[in-house]
Amino acid sequence: MSVRPLNIDPRHCLIDGRWQACQSGQTLELKNPSDGTLLCEIARGSAQDIYAAVDAATRALDGPWSTLTAFERGRILAKIGQLVLENADELARLEALDVGKPLTQAKADVTALARYMEFYGGAADKVHGTTIPYLDGYTVYTLREPHGVTGHIIPWNYPMQIIGRSVGAALAMGNAAVLKPAEEACLTALAFGELARRAGLPDGVLNVVPGLGAEAGAALSAHKSVHHISFTGSVNVGKLIQHSAAENVVPVTLELGGKSPQLVFEDANIEAALPFLVNAGIQNAGQTCSASSRILVQRSRYDEVLDAMAKRYAALKAGPALEDHDVGPLVSSRQKEIVESFIVKGHDLECAARGKIIDSAPEGGAYVAPALFANVPSDHSLAQDEIFGPVQVVIPFDDEDEAIAIANGTDFGLVASVWSENGARQMCLAKRLRAGQVFLNNYGAGGGVELPFGGTGLSGHGREKGFEALYGFSTLKTVAARHG
Ligand code: NAD
Repeated sequence: MSVRPLNIDPRHCLIDGRWQACQSGQTLELKNPSDGTLLCEIARGSAQDIYAAVDAATRALDGPWSTLTAFERGRILAKIGQLVLENADELARLEALDVGKPLTQAKADVTALARYMEFYGGAADKVHGTTIPYLDGYTVYTLREPHGVTGHIIPWNYPMQIIGRSVGAALAMGNAAVLKPAEEACLTALAFGELARRAGLPDGVLNVVPGLGAEAGAALSAHKSVHHISFTGSVNVGKLIQHSAAENVVPVTLELGGKSPQLVFEDANIEAALPFLVNAGIQNAGQTCSASSRILVQRSRYDEVLDAMAKRYAALKAGPALEDHDVGPLVSSRQKEIVESFIVKGHDLECAARGKIIDSAPEGGAYVAPALFANVPSDHSLAQDEIFGPVQVVIPFDDEDEAIAIANGTDFGLVASVWSENGARQMCLAKRLRAGQVFLNNYGAGGGVELPFGGTGLSGHGREKGFEALYGFSTLKTVAARHG
């Protein structure tokens, strides 16, 4: 099978509005994680291709893009959103084939991408400067301006959603972008580039260069003419990106991993909580930065919650993405090995339940049966390290202080949730939890594009999504005019 996203040649990069082979002519193999077969070859973009893309973006900043009003920029984004919806089935199929994401989840990502384009299209003319009352005889105001060229290095787990929230916001503010998708999954990034072209985005405003992280990614993050870097991925690479950004003294948004807890108190509505407790751990086969991998339960309800979760786990089925089971394969055999090595580390723990890999799942697929571990000590590797697979641990606690100590007791700080019918407790714990976002009696709030998202600690810094991202993808100029 050789997949052609929206009929473009997947061995090509989008540079300066044209699809072209990378300069070395080299390619990488893209595998289907559901069965291990070859989907197609993609470009192995090198530093030379990144340089060409950054040059194109730099030129684009002086071209028609700079003369558009903010609402005209927004209109193009909205048009991209419309094309995303018109091509929804194809985009969902590509994401399912490439990432191994069950089709229903891939469709939700398409909808989210369209929503990002609508949201940032509408927001493009709503973030601007202010007038500042100052000394008599002065008029002072601020201007929100684009950084210039923005670099976007994205992972394989949610390509469409991450493109939406980072590239969407960057373009809304008038930047020109270079996107380096992940080598494991980049088909929807290529498709997005094509839709942006068809929507009338001027040449060079969005460039897409697939390739290896250590080659294309490193060249992009080190480039002196890139004025802002947005990175989503692992902590170790995030540190490298921040080093490069420090060399060039440019701002960086880092969206790294998490070990996000849900705190279930004795007064919680367990029935309402249950779907969130499990789904937040197994969605996208647990390959989600905001996955909830730790479930903390007050001791008086512990057995009840564990039993109910174990029942759900035992019914979970893993199978090919296009067949739309509860859980798809992991993105690659490498990721499967990583996750299985964690499950092996749990051999001394109580495994409360495992889901099943369906009998007809192809041999070559990267399947892992979801695993639920009980009574896990909070300092165990399974309770501390980001696993990035369908594995959750359940930990008992006695009171609020202990719950907070466990919840805040990792190096991460991305998401947390509190399940309790006590409003005062919810508010108090929302303040005490170390996390970029706290959900009360829910988890994820439906993932709305309007909600700022980001972490603290090893989960990174900076915010994407919502209006907040528009501040991050722009810089502020103060103008002070003396009268007369
Ligand atoms: P990664 O950090 O290696 O890759 C993410 C992106 O960074 C890819 O586009 C990759 O090509 C690029 N990259 C890699 N090395 C680079 C370098 N030296 N310079 C610039 N760019 C570089 O992540 P991964 O290998 O895909 O996954 C490894 C682990 O990272 C996962 O197990 C998981 O824990 C974590 N992860 C987190 C997220 C998230 O959303 N927070 C996403 C994916 C992976």
